[in-house]
Amino acid sequence: MTVPQLLKAIQRDGGYARATRGERFLLGAYAVFLLSVAVALVVWSYQRLLDHPPGGYLPLAAFGFAFPTCFVAIAVVLGRRCFMEVVFTATSVTCYGVLGRPIWIEGLAGLIEIRHILGARGTGAVKLIWPHQVRAIPFDAWWEGLLDREFARAEREEMARVEQAYDREHPRWKCDECAEDNPGEFELCWSCGRGKSQ
Ligand SMILES: [Zn+2]
Repeated sequence: MTVPQLLKAIQRDGGYARATRGERFLLGAYAVFLLSVAVALVVWSYQRLLDHPPGGYLPLAAFGFAFPTCFVAIAVVLGRRCFMEVVFTATSVTCYGVLGRPIWIEGLAGLIEIRHILGARGTGAVKLIWPHQVRAIPFDAWWEGLLDREFARAEREEMARVEQAYDREHPRWKCDECAEDNPGEFELCWSCGRGKSQ
């Protein structure tokens, strides 16, 4: 699918992307896990400092401060993703953060590619790529749903095309005897049994 086709599909679908309940649960679980590890590290290093002064200062700096800080930062990022919302309009795409504050806005005009990144740990991401900019939507269930609906729609359209082509090749005909309307593939009138006149 080309970028214009995808944008059309996104807008037909509501132009709205947010983490599903399952994705929120997953993101929240990761965040809680990281926070627990951070707390455990802080407690462990202070305990170690109390037990082995002064040799505990270096581990305290790393395990009691640096690592926990990183884990808390990642947990905050994951938590924010739960509340992130991305809204597509005809001309632009806007990402809203917690409390509906806009995080970024981009025009759709120069968009060259939309790339789906599969997630190893559950949620994937959809990358919007401009020549000067890359923006990521850090969850993908909405995207997979969109593609499924798009695929089903394309299939329905193909079926309709095939049926129309068939109807053109086998036009309906009217019985000479009883004036009943008959499908093109019937050789005899379904009502009175008289053959199709040539
Ligand atoms: Zn007939």
